[in-house]
Amino acid sequence: MVSPHFSPFLNGSIEVVCGPMFSGKTEELIRRVRRAQIARQKVQIFKPAIDNRYHESDVVSHSSLTCEATPVSNAIEILQKLFDSTRVVAIDEVQFFDSSVLKVIGKLAKRGIRVICAGLDQDYTGAPFGPIPELLAMADRVDKIQAICTVCGSPASKTFRKPSDTKDQVLVGESDLYEARCRTHFDYEEEEKDQLAFSLLFKDQEQSQELR
Ligand SMILES: [Zn+2]
Repeated sequence: MVSPHFSPFLNGSIEVVCGPMFSGKTEELIRRVRRAQIARQKVQIFKPAIDNRYHESDVVSHSSLTCEATPVSNAIEILQKLFDSTRVVAIDEVQFFDSSVLKVIGKLAKRGIRVICAGLDQDYTGAPFGPIPELLAMADRVDKIQAICTVCGSPASKTFRKPSDTKDQVLVGESDLYEARCRTHFDYEEEEKDQLAFSLLFKDQEQSQELR
C-alpha cells in the first residue's frame, strides 16, 4: 500500500478546542475522535505526562468519558511514536507542551494528518497559556468554548484558582483547586490592579475632554 503520508488526496488540518476548565474541551476532543473512529480512520491520542489526574494512559474528561492516550514527556515523542497508518492525531492538554509542539503539529498537518488539539487558552492569572497563542494563529479551525460561572451562572471563559500558597503556573488539580468564572467574578489580584489603572486612565481622559 502507498504510504498515506504522500497521497495528494489527503489534506492535513489543525483544529483547536480551547476554553477554561470545566468547559467540556476533552469531551469535545473525545467526540471528534469517536467520529473519526466510526469513519475507520486510525487515531492516536497523546497527552503530556504531567497530567496524570485520573489515569496514566487515558484521556479522561470531567464527565468521565475516556479514551486511551499515550503519555509523552515532550512533543518530539509524538513524532517518534506515530504509526504510518495514523490519519488523525489528538493532543489533549496541549497548553502544557513547550513551543516545540508547534513545529510538531505543523509537520503532522503537512503530512496530511488531521490534528485535533484541546487545551486551556488562559492560565489562572488570565494570561495566554504556553504555545496556545501561536497555535490559535496557525489553526484552520478554532472553537472557544465556555463553562458556567460558579458564582452567577453566566457563561465563563476564565479559570479561577482558589487561594493557595503557590504561584506556579502549573498546579494540576480539579474542582478542589479551580473554578470556572465569568469576567466579573474572575478577581485575580493583578487584574484588579489593572482595572484600577484603567479606571484612573479613563478618569484622566474624561477630565482632559472636559477641559477642551
Ligand atoms: Zn459570574
